[in-house]
Amino acid sequence: MGVIPKTLKTLTLELQRLPGIGPKSARRIAYFLFTLPQDRLSFLGESFHNLKKNVTVCTFCHMLADTNPCDICGDATREVKTLCVVADHMDVYAIERTAGYKGMYYVLGGLLSPVKGHGPEEVDTKGLLKRIAQLKKLQRGGEKLEVIFALSPTTEGQTTSLYMREEIRNEFGEDVSLSKVAVGISVGTDIDYVDTYTLQEALKGRGSL
Ligand SMILES: [Zn+2]
Repeated sequence: MGVIPKTLKTLTLELQRLPGIGPKSARRIAYFLFTLPQDRLSFLGESFHNLKKNVTVCTFCHMLADTNPCDICGDATREVKTLCVVADHMDVYAIERTAGYKGMYYVLGGLLSPVKGHGPEEVDTKGLLKRIAQLKKLQRGGEKLEVIFALSPTTEGQTTSLYMREEIRNEFGEDVSLSKVAVGISVGTDIDYVDTYTLQEALKGRGSL
């Protein structure tokens, strides 16, 4: 017979598998959860249970959302002349907090990384080209669609931007204008860690890619 009750042990082991949680924190969280009233625990359990059932992926931008299309892609007041390419849905939340960007998004879901062995086949280039083609059709009066790369200025972010640029140029030539956020974001910083003001300025001061 173990000293730690079986259920607490199982919970601790599961919590330990979460990102950023070590054995000590996992144990602390498990014991804290035991102190909560049953109705709060049931509510937590329900949220876990519903996570995969209720959250969907938007077919247009690949954001996690309640509906498909998501609130942004389905919003007729958003501008269709700019498409912001980000690595992760957390980056969309960060940019939305700036309230300065009114265009569309595309979530790549990963970056090229020769170090980690992530080659072109693991980045959704086809999906991005398809989204660009869809938005190009919505442009009025000969306006060019602008694709803004808001990837972290790391080697992985830069490699991905340059690779995507080639793919977009091969497919659409000069029919699409390409830019990247630059000003104020220091090299090696993840987009979702940048403060709102800096990110807002970075979007305004973007340069061509
Ligand atoms: Zn969407």
